[in-house]
Amino acid sequence: MSNKNPSSDQNIATRLVHMGHEPHSYFGFVNPPVVHASTVLYKNSESMRNRSQPYTYGLRGTPTTDALERALNELEAAHGTILVPSGLAAITVPLLAFLLAGDHLLVVDSCYSPTRHFCDTVLKRMGVAVEYFDPALGTGIEALIRPETRVVFLEVPGSNTFEMMDVAAVCEIAHHAGAVVMIDNTWATPLFFRPLEHGVDLSIHALTKYPGGHSDVMMGSVSANETTYKRLRDTQMALGINAAPDDTYLIMRGLKTMGVRLARHQASALEIARWLEGRPGVSKVLHPALPSFPGFDLWQRQFGGSSGLFSFVLEGGRPAAAAFLDALQIFGLGYSWGGHESLVVEADLSDRTSAKAPLDGAVIRLQIGLEDVGDLMRDIDRGLEAAIAANGTCR
Ligand SMILES: *Cc1c(COP(=O)(O)O)cnc(C)c1O
Repeated sequence: MSNKNPSSDQNIATRLVHMGHEPHSYFGFVNPPVVHASTVLYKNSESMRNRSQPYTYGLRGTPTTDALERALNELEAAHGTILVPSGLAAITVPLLAFLLAGDHLLVVDSCYSPTRHFCDTVLKRMGVAVEYFDPALGTGIEALIRPETRVVFLEVPGSNTFEMMDVAAVCEIAHHAGAVVMIDNTWATPLFFRPLEHGVDLSIHALTKYPGGHSDVMMGSVSANETTYKRLRDTQMALGINAAPDDTYLIMRGLKTMGVRLARHQASALEIARWLEGRPGVSKVLHPALPSFPGFDLWQRQFGGSSGLFSFVLEGGRPAAAAFLDALQIFGLGYSWGGHESLVVEADLSDRTSAKAPLDGAVIRLQIGLEDVGDLMRDIDRGLEAAIAANGTCR
């Protein structure tokens, strides 16, 4: 559904609770109906011929998917939003929509690993020239632009290592060259960064993360400006992809509490990040909202907040990282993030070409959940003590 951002004088905390669904459009029920559908009946042959009714076939959208698309349009200040079954599909569908054989694609080197895998396999096979650029390049990206550069793909901050970029400056350069700019905006959520207001054409989300919020659903979205929306929607429909009704409903439900959850994720993660700085065994903390972080100024200038995911560099190598992970009792060892529970992974940065892994230790990524901060700190201390002991035995 295409829907302009309604100008609202209400605060985002209020809008999160009410947006997407107008109760009196459906008998006063405060939540949207969950519509399971393939067939939609037409009143007569004329409406069937013209498809002159709001809904025409299950794949093409339902009141349930419309409600979530409207909410995301408002959150992202977008012209239109598509829903897809995973965050990864929200990356691959727009890339397929805007790239042809012979085109050149610039991708930030600190992107989510499966993004790189898709570019290096499917897109290369299609004949797209894929080039990775160092997020530290900044406006130096201009030197990499070619006449056939069609798409610049950003992720800010970078996956696992949180490199920041000046998004508006990159958009200006890309647009001057006639390229489309896409950004994976999963970390910030639209509450802390609205990419389209900085010139980005397509804003991508793994709704699996904070919008879902409970580690029980997978979905993705792409929110587009007016120039790119039609091509994005046409490609989604050509590929035959949309979101399932029950999953869509769970994301709608998650949005209601996303504001309060994020406030807690933000506060707890910042408290733990500050506390980790200078802790024995920790060589540095990679969190964009810490003044010690190289991207801090860029974060402060562009973002309205920080979420619950950050990393730190643990002194020592593999054995220290393994000891840290195995000593934890609250943090779960698992991928994904944005849910209620704290998680940890040792980041694998071996696929990077320029934004390389730090040399002074292992990169440990923490997702700070909704648990008590003191309990989480005690858990991390257990891990650090085990890591220091492992380093001792290695020496
Ligand atoms: C998790 C994640 C994705 C992919 O989302 P899925 O729903 O797990 O496919 C994409 N981008 C980023 C930055 C992510 O963290």
